[in-house]
Amino acid sequence: MDRTIYRSYLQQETSFAYTVWEAESTETALRLCRSQPPDSIVLDYLLPDRNGLEFLSSLKSSIGENCPPVIMLNEQGNEAIAIQAFKAGVEDYLIKEEITSESLRYITRTAIENFRLRQELRQSEECYRAVTEQSLRQSEDFNRQILETLPNCVKVLDLEGNIKYINPAGKRLLDLDDQSCQNANLIDHWQASSDQQRLQQAIDEAIAGTSITFQGSCPTRNGTPKWWEIIITPIFNAKRQVAGLLSVSRDITDHKQIEASFQQQLAQIEAIYTTAPVGLCFLDRERRFVQINERLAEINGLSVSEHIGRTVEEILPELAEIQEPIFEQVLQTGMPMINVDVRGTTPAQPGVERYWLANYYPLKAANGQSLGINITVQEITDRIQADREREQILADTQATRIAAEEANRSKDEFVAVIAHELRSPINSVAGWAQLLRMRKFDQATVDRALEAIERGTQTQVQLIEDLLDISRMACGTLRLTFAPLNLTTVIQAAINLVSPMADAKQIELESQLTAIAQIYGDLNRLQQIAVNLLTNAIKFTPEQGRVTIIIELVAQQVRIQVKDSGKGINPEFLPQIFEQFRQGQKNSGSKDGLGLGLAIAKNLVELHHGTITAESPGLGQGATFTVWLPLHESQPVVIPAEIPTVTDENPLAGIRILAIDDEPDSLELLRFILDNAGAEVQTASNGAIALDLISQFDFELLVSDIAMPDINGHELIQQIQTLYPERKIRAIALTAYASSSDRDYSLRIGFEKYFSKPIDPEVLITAVVNLIHPS
Ligand code: ADP
Repeated sequence: MDRTIYRSYLQQETSFAYTVWEAESTETALRLCRSQPPDSIVLDYLLPDRNGLEFLSSLKSSIGENCPPVIMLNEQGNEAIAIQAFKAGVEDYLIKEEITSESLRYITRTAIENFRLRQELRQSEECYRAVTEQSLRQSEDFNRQILETLPNCVKVLDLEGNIKYINPAGKRLLDLDDQSCQNANLIDHWQASSDQQRLQQAIDEAIAGTSITFQGSCPTRNGTPKWWEIIITPIFNAKRQVAGLLSVSRDITDHKQIEASFQQQLAQIEAIYTTAPVGLCFLDRERRFVQINERLAEINGLSVSEHIGRTVEEILPELAEIQEPIFEQVLQTGMPMINVDVRGTTPAQPGVERYWLANYYPLKAANGQSLGINITVQEITDRIQADREREQILADTQATRIAAEEANRSKDEFVAVIAHELRSPINSVAGWAQLLRMRKFDQATVDRALEAIERGTQTQVQLIEDLLDISRMACGTLRLTFAPLNLTTVIQAAINLVSPMADAKQIELESQLTAIAQIYGDLNRLQQIAVNLLTNAIKFTPEQGRVTIIIELVAQQVRIQVKDSGKGINPEFLPQIFEQFRQGQKNSGSKDGLGLGLAIAKNLVELHHGTITAESPGLGQGATFTVWLPLHESQPVVIPAEIPTVTDENPLAGIRILAIDDEPDSLELLRFILDNAGAEVQTASNGAIALDLISQFDFELLVSDIAMPDINGHELIQQIQTLYPERKIRAIALTAYASSSDRDYSLRIGFEKYFSKPIDPEVLITAVVNLIHPS
């Protein structure tokens, strides 16, 4: 009855189409289940032969794990049976009177679905377990294969270094057979190595719990050393204690050899870096010095270590600015830049401009990326300077050539002017002399002729004196005799000398001579300055004009001014007026001089530590020359004795004189002058005749020319001194060649006076008188 109801309930199920088998006894049910297990069993507890729990037990033992889900039904609720049922594995437990169609269908459906889910889960678990086991097996195989095929030596060591496991490669590498592996010890294996102790230390550290990488060299059996890198790792047990060591060794002999040769190459590069005569450096992309050699560090004025890590900008700010575009280009294009001229300063020589020739090479990584720039630097400052000097020398040589050509032209011009200037007075001298010889003139004409001759001679003497002065100034041999003196007297003497000239042109010569305390100077030369300025003023002032000379004391200095109302000076000519051979109107054909007077005056003023200037408001407006001289403060003025003038008719009466000159006219003139003054004169035309006469006569005085053939004046006086040391013969030298050195020499070897030709008869006679009768 119940079975029919439950069947009808189950057949109402829409999710599944149930096939319902029925069994009246447990025996039938067990048979059915064994032949074809159902998807679910609805089991009554109360069965005719046994109860439901006993059936369940038999079913499980008969079909095992595949037992379908069981829903147990009972007449009434019995808790003890329900608990037993669940323990036995029923899916659900239902009270018959509470069963409805829905509840039975729901519980049956759920039981089938849960069972299926459980079965699927179990299957996937089994499947997973199977897969995992397989992969584990595979991974062990894999590890074994790795260990066996690995070229490295893999060992497991105990804490004493005994080898507990070694892979085949290890045996091969260490040359061990299975037998020797049994007792092998890693430390013992390194017995012949000097690195054995280090290896022991590495093992000790690994035992202490650290993984260590050790490198060392150990000889093989045939004696050749091999290099090993050994990674020693501690193996921990479950208690985190080091139970053993894993050692993985790698043969790095080749690597070490490459490293050694690399080190050698590095050393060679280092040596090149150190000894190269050119500067070398490597900059990274940020322009930092990565490497630099001594030479470049020296150029930059800092040590090598001071460069490393610093940028070019920090070390050489000025050069960095110049080179930045070059760095940029080299890094961007990856192309070198060769033979770049660099100019600038470095801290080595601040403020000194230097020159270098630089090459910039980019350094690239294997992937083509730029790493930085290699730079070579060669100092070329000396070369550039030498080039410049050569250019300068070339320019100087050219300038010198031009100057020489100019000088040559000037010399030609100068010779022409001198020839002209010398010839002019000679014309009149020669002309008058001829006239006097040819005809007899009245006394007035004779006097005029003689005056003209005298003037011509004086002009020539003056020209020659000026030329000699200029030559002495050029050689620096112009000698001045300084003494304290009264300037007013000197200027007055100059005025006296030029006043006939002023008178001749009816020029008013005015002087304002304030009494000046004292001047320290050369009397003759100061007079020469004043005469030059006054002569020019008179020369360049037209008739009836005015010339004024003023001496004043201004600001503790003496000022001499010569003013005239003459033709004035062109402003363009003023700056050159004190230069030699400069004349306001060139080639004017005037007989007024050589353009030396002012040059001499300037030089003489400067030798007195003074200055001279010229001013003129312009042409036709007169000129003013101003001389400044320092005051002499120490000594009182000593007015030099006036040169004594001889008034006596026969001042040399009774004086025995020997006159010597190889030039007959000069000798005759000399004889005439001395004889006329009353002397007893003998003449000699050369040194030999002079010596002969001296041996015969007792002369008091010699007046001798210097430049003579065979025995010159100097040799003559020296021979006389040697031959007659006891005789006191005084001596006066005469010469046409008046140089200061010649004068000095003559006075040093025994001449007491020295005169240049032509001689002034009065000066000569006075000198003789002063020598022989000084009182
Ligand atoms: P020199 O008188 O022999 O020509 P100087 O050296 O004495 O040579 O003078 C150089 C030139 O300076 C003269 O030729 C003349 O042109 C100019 N000079 C000198 N003094 C005067 C002056 N007082 N007035 C005008 N010009 C003068």
